[in-house]
Amino acid sequence: MLACTLALGACCQAPAETPAVVAHRGYWKCEGGAQNSISSLANAAAIKVWGSEFDVWMTADDTLVVNHDPKLHHIMLKDAKFADVKNLELDNGELISTVDQYLAKGLEFPEMQMVFEIKTYKDLSDTAYEARVVPAVVEAVKKYGLENRTTFIAFSLTLCEQIAKLMPENTVQYLNGDLSPKEVYEHGINGIDYHYSCFKKHPEWVKEAHDLGMSVNCWTVNSASDIKQMIALGVDQITTNEPTLAQKLISGKSCCSKKSCCK
Ligand code: MG
Repeated sequence: MLACTLALGACCQAPAETPAVVAHRGYWKCEGGAQNSISSLANAAAIKVWGSEFDVWMTADDTLVVNHDPKLHHIMLKDAKFADVKNLELDNGELISTVDQYLAKGLEFPEMQMVFEIKTYKDLSDTAYEARVVPAVVEAVKKYGLENRTTFIAFSLTLCEQIAKLMPENTVQYLNGDLSPKEVYEHGINGIDYHYSCFKKHPEWVKEAHDLGMSVNCWTVNSASDIKQMIALGVDQITTNEPTLAQKLISGKSCCSKKSCCK
């Protein structure tokens, strides 16, 4: 559950380091695009974002698949067998991809960070599910040698704790927005990725996190005014459905037009 409500506060801190851009569910806001598709990952790489985010579920028979919602075409992914979901189509006609397929594609883009969200149903901790999905996620990332460029994000605090213990060199960002950076840090987690309304309500959390050596990401920041506000706050990453807009606002220029970047 998102703990922060939208509360517009003062945002007057000087810009710090230039934030990096994360394409939320890949770069899909283009002709033929679909969230969490393999093509959205390739499109994110084509526009040279720092990272591309994607959402992962595990099927009942232990296959990791990439999709945002718990259901695809009315099938609950975590309760289904992979054979019953493997031919499900995304909005653009691509089939749902496995994490194996997604990470294999990611190997083609060595400059880009893979921002790996591990989903839990209704964003709650689920001990039995987490006991299965956590080792599978770690195994998958190691299988493809992507330890050095994977950031993990999750709403479940217990899941973040487990990943942080197993992958101590990696950035793990807690998503839920209900804890201060210090409280997250005390759980052994080295990052936060909160809805931007949390930072409008608690702009001091950016410095608090940085003083603890934590990374700060924010989601899902789509308007120019909100992107500018997060830049001014000094966050490390901005996760957005409008990555080219964010790039333009950060650097003053965009890498290329949507049309030329989207295949
Ligand atoms: Mg996500």
